[in-house]
Amino acid sequence: MRLAARQYQYLEALGIDVYKLREREDLEGTGLKPVPGRAADLKSVPSGTLTAGVVDGSAGTDAPASQQEDRATLDWDALQHKVAECRLCPLHEGRTQTVFGVGDVNADLMLIGEAPGAEEDRRGEPFVGRAGKLLDAMLQALGLARDQVFIANILKCRPPNNRDPRPEEVLACESYLVQQIHTVKPRLILALGRVAAQNLLKTQTPIGKMRGKQFQYGDPPVPVVVTYHPAYLLRAPREKKKSWQDLQLAMTIYKEQT
Ligand code: SF4
Repeated sequence: MRLAARQYQYLEALGIDVYKLREREDLEGTGLKPVPGRAADLKSVPSGTLTAGVVDGSAGTDAPASQQEDRATLDWDALQHKVAECRLCPLHEGRTQTVFGVGDVNADLMLIGEAPGAEEDRRGEPFVGRAGKLLDAMLQALGLARDQVFIANILKCRPPNNRDPRPEEVLACESYLVQQIHTVKPRLILALGRVAAQNLLKTQTPIGKMRGKQFQYGDPPVPVVVTYHPAYLLRAPREKKKSWQDLQLAMTIYKEQT
């Protein structure tokens, strides 16, 4: 089956109006091409020069300097081991296991979510279950497989009853994510959901106001695009179209980086 045909199927799974797509060849080899209606939407979305915010990820923790230096020199396997053994915040008490992240350590696209849920805690992998399947469909609509990106969370341990991460937990866990980003060196970060976006970008701005804009993270700056968490999209399927617009914006920016 040709790639474009598969993308049509995934777009349908996302609830996208595939009948509005341009000719099939427009999708070939590109991963995506805005549909006519979407193209107009996309043009109305700020991009390129619209850098909405800059966050210095290298300084985003109150952990002792010696501890940060220690982590900065760790290789990937050692970092994984360090996370697996971590007891820096009380969440270690309730976890089955830590959820480090999954995917290609050399990926150009990094996805960052909130924290493990029950299934993720059990399996040790982020974004599994129904939300994970939807995320996979979102990626595949862009012509990407899960193992071509790197997926991580703000927190590596599951908060009880899936409550929001507490600021002190985010702070304790932050240097692990910083190290992951510094190692992967993505060309683009896609923040999935309010909690991920607000903690990554150090803002309380509602997610609805962060969508459709380009932010910057770290130094050298990595472009960040914000979209809804797949679990939210399952509860609010009408928002899938907005999420698709976000993905289109992300890929437009991504292409500008390559
Ligand atoms: S959430 Fe992060 S800081 Fe807290 S115990 Fe787990 S790995 Fe350590």
